[in-house]
Amino acid sequence: MQDMKVLGYAAREKGEPLEPIEYEPPKIGKHDVRVRITHCGLCQTDIHGIDDYYGITTYPFVPGHEIVGSVSSVGSAVSELKEGDRVGIGWQGRSCMKCEWCSQGEEQLCEDIVSSGTWMPYGGFSSSISVDSRFAYLLPEAMPSEVAAVLMCAGVTVYSPLKSLATRDKQKIGIIGVGGLGHLGLQFAQALGYEVTAISSSPKKKKEALAFGADHFIISDDHDSLQNAMLSFDLLLCTAHGKIDWELLLGTLKKNGKFVLVGFPDVKFNSTDLVAHQLSITGSFLGSRATMQEMLSFAQEHKIKPKVELMPMAKVNEAIQTLKDNKARYRIVLFNDMGEH
Ligand SMILES: [Zn+2]
Ligand SMILES: [Zn+2]
Repeated sequence: MQDMKVLGYAAREKGEPLEPIEYEPPKIGKHDVRVRITHCGLCQTDIHGIDDYYGITTYPFVPGHEIVGSVSSVGSAVSELKEGDRVGIGWQGRSCMKCEWCSQGEEQLCEDIVSSGTWMPYGGFSSSISVDSRFAYLLPEAMPSEVAAVLMCAGVTVYSPLKSLATRDKQKIGIIGVGGLGHLGLQFAQALGYEVTAISSSPKKKKEALAFGADHFIISDDHDSLQNAMLSFDLLLCTAHGKIDWELLLGTLKKNGKFVLVGFPDVKFNSTDLVAHQLSITGSFLGSRATMQEMLSFAQEHKIKPKVELMPMAKVNEAIQTLKDNKARYRIVLFNDMGEH
């Protein structure tokens, strides 16, 4: 297995469609595992990566960081995984394990985070990947691979802030955006015992949002409903990208309320309410290794399931276009159709 070339899909330049690529499998270090990929979810961050939105992309760029597969080789110091184990891997594939943040168990804040990405040097839209075994998570046996794939990034991204920032039962939580992240956020928030409102630009999503776990549904440009919700939420979790109405949304937060960004919307707000209502606006990034483990058990226990469209990896460009057109319902997972590589 070790010497076989890896097949993948890469953007050769910024913003370009993905094309087939072949490369030597990266050597595995003593703590690493190589994983034969069966499934890889498509995340907005992959598109941002292709477009070099974060300014860290190197080309050719193989995206993909919601990975499920089976371990095919292990480094000499790996004791917790063995060949054949089914594992999930998220955005973070390694960390320095010694900086201030890694030492206190917040690996997602590692000082070396830029080179900790699973897609360095090549990501999951490929036949195999090598990562640090401490960032490859054994999956619950009964969890379908396409479900686990989505949980590895989208799942932990919404679970982590909902768990750590909204700590009282029956808090009122608003989830802005009912897409790949938001539809999971609704499920986790309900399972955590909160009173949940979905805030979406699309009235068509009401029925499904309620089925995912929302107690209430508000259309984001329905000013009357948002006015009625003034000063009502303890926390807003913003999964949306692009434009949002900051003034109206911040107005719906209770005093001392928190506005948590996990998507990347344009930022524009008036500071008056922020100061006078003691609001916090904060970001949340992935989750630690401990949070990842906890999230997987929680999702299994509460039967949290992303709604997935399965497509073969050969259709990766079609999948990207579907997500760009905002037509994914709700998360696309690509399965490996490249055979035994
Ligand atoms: Zn992601
Ligand atoms: Zn570190």
